[in-house]
Amino acid sequence: MSTPHGAIETPVFMPVGTAATVKGLTQGALEEVGAGILLANTYHLYLRPGHALIRKLGGLHAFMAWNGAILTDSGGYQVFSLSELRKVTDEGVRFRSHLDGSEHLLTPEKAAEIQLALGSDIAMVLDECIETPAPRKVAEAAVKRTTDWARRARCYFLECTKQNGDPGQWQFGIVQGATFGDLRRESAQQLIELDFPGYAVGGLAVGEPHEVTCEMAEEVTRSLPEERPRYLMGVGRPEQIPDYVARGIDMMDCVLPTRAARHACLYTSEGRVLIKNARYIEDQRPIDPNCDCSVCRRYTRAYLRHLFAAGEITGAILATHHNVRFYLDIMRQIREAITFGHLANFAAELRARYMAGPS
Ligand SMILES: [Zn+2]
Repeated sequence: MSTPHGAIETPVFMPVGTAATVKGLTQGALEEVGAGILLANTYHLYLRPGHALIRKLGGLHAFMAWNGAILTDSGGYQVFSLSELRKVTDEGVRFRSHLDGSEHLLTPEKAAEIQLALGSDIAMVLDECIETPAPRKVAEAAVKRTTDWARRARCYFLECTKQNGDPGQWQFGIVQGATFGDLRRESAQQLIELDFPGYAVGGLAVGEPHEVTCEMAEEVTRSLPEERPRYLMGVGRPEQIPDYVARGIDMMDCVLPTRAARHACLYTSEGRVLIKNARYIEDQRPIDPNCDCSVCRRYTRAYLRHLFAAGEITGAILATHHNVRFYLDIMRQIREAITFGHLANFAAELRARYMAGPS
């Protein structure tokens, strides 16, 4: 993908930088581990510090001093999961801020407007997120509303482009349809008619079995144009990533590597390492002997374990650095495996190492 902030090799993993920061990593560290694109959360930035302030300060890239690409979500997922007293109507979703209780209305137009103000490289349209498993009638209604909202968001975006010139932003549609294959295909078809430069698969990896996630992802990627990026939102565990790539997914994001790092869970080429475990007290090895990150080159497992035991924030910082590097390296290895035609082998080996359980 060519973005105004650099070319991105796909498949790509996007670290999550919720409030214009990837928790525990400086922008310098993100460059060091090779992150080309980050995800930032519209809901959080809209509430604090506000998109008007960010626009005034030169947009999100300038504000957070990040020269790589940025994808912003629509804010919808957080409205549905974090805010109080939400009320969904055809107009949009009315909610109270989880910070101060203030009332807001997020519409498809508003979500597009906020993301244009932020100046992200890729913006997502507002979609209706429903709880799963969902009854068919609920899923059908959500698909209909998601398409209506996508059409309004697309019209608004194109009108802004006509009036103010090309914003250098891609707007992606989001396919819904819960766990119903035919609804997923229908949702994809309706969005294709709106001619988005890229498409996301939403409402998955929310508790359904991995096989179902894969099945739904495949239904959608089969329906979508191959030459446009396809983004599976909110995945996944290291050993699951090759499964999604094999089904045609090009982009992924997940809080797992950063969140797990803060809870002393490290992902390595040999499986998970729960670094607080007593067995690492005298372990002089690096976190991952096969990792070339600056943390693995410098520090021992014994030292990491000590930092977590003592509640030192450096422990979380070092663990996050390694975990993000590990995820980006999995993607690099997957791209290599695709080139040489051995993705299935790579997937099987990674799965076997993770099936063995935490060490
Ligand atoms: Zn490392």
